[in-house]
Amino acid sequence: MSRLQGKNVFITGASSGIGESCARHFAQAGSNLILAARRKERLAGLKSELESKHAGIKIAIYELDVRQRAKVHEVTAQFEDNVDILINNAGLVIGLDKLEDITEEALDTMMDTNVKGLVHVTQAVLPGMRQRNKGHIINIGSVAGQQPYANGSIYCATKAAVASISRALMAETVNTNIRVSEINPGLVETEFSVVRFRGDKDKADNVYKGLTPLNGDDIAEMIVFIASRPDHVNIAEMLVFPTHQA
Ligand code: NDP
Repeated sequence: MSRLQGKNVFITGASSGIGESCARHFAQAGSNLILAARRKERLAGLKSELESKHAGIKIAIYELDVRQRAKVHEVTAQFEDNVDILINNAGLVIGLDKLEDITEEALDTMMDTNVKGLVHVTQAVLPGMRQRNKGHIINIGSVAGQQPYANGSIYCATKAAVASISRALMAETVNTNIRVSEINPGLVETEFSVVRFRGDKDKADNVYKGLTPLNGDDIAEMIVFIASRPDHVNIAEMLVFPTHQA
């Protein structure tokens, strides 16, 4: 039997890309799903698809903007004592601009989603994990957090923050049975690929010239691997590149 069978897995940003792939792979492993994102209609479609494929698993969906701390606590109050695995996946990039051109709105949105949002959700779920002395928090960072690039200063900084938070939290939970892991993907083709160029598909495609990007399933498979190690094994950090990216 899979170690993930019957586990309650809370995935933020489950309405597309890596989060959606995670939902599919954890459902396949027999986990119950708690799926959150702002686009609830997408989550509803995913829920009915997965329920028809996997009898016996429970799926709950919540409309949630991780930037809104009070709302995060209100929503998670319905299940926070029950989360075995939290996948902090919600994240975005607003365009790719030179530092001097980054608007206050873009700065706030990236910081509030990628850093503060991850903290809000973790703060809501961690006390329950501490009480039960078990749980696994898996944060989605990025290669961008380790290899900052031109026109990506703020996004890269948010992902460097995710790395710092993950390692600090690992130290804060060291005497417990709570695991903290971070996975850092390289180029993954998702909606994010086009959003970061404000919808310019040609620019988005140009990034993948000469390489085959990863897809959501490639990362979801790694996340399932991280989550399904025996309890005494914690993969603190995993870097996953497409073969032709360095
Ligand atoms: P997608 O754009 O496909 O998915 C992003 C998800 O985040 C969506 O489900 C979106 O849902 C959700 N989200 C965004 N803002 C919020 C918010 N305020 N509150 C709740 N949910 C939110 O992109 P990816 O799957 O590629 O991205 C997933 C994660 O992977 C991100 O953290 C990203 O930084 C990271 N990553 C991506 C890489 C790539 O190359 N694609 C590489 C490395 C890391 P909704 O809009 O419905 O709220």
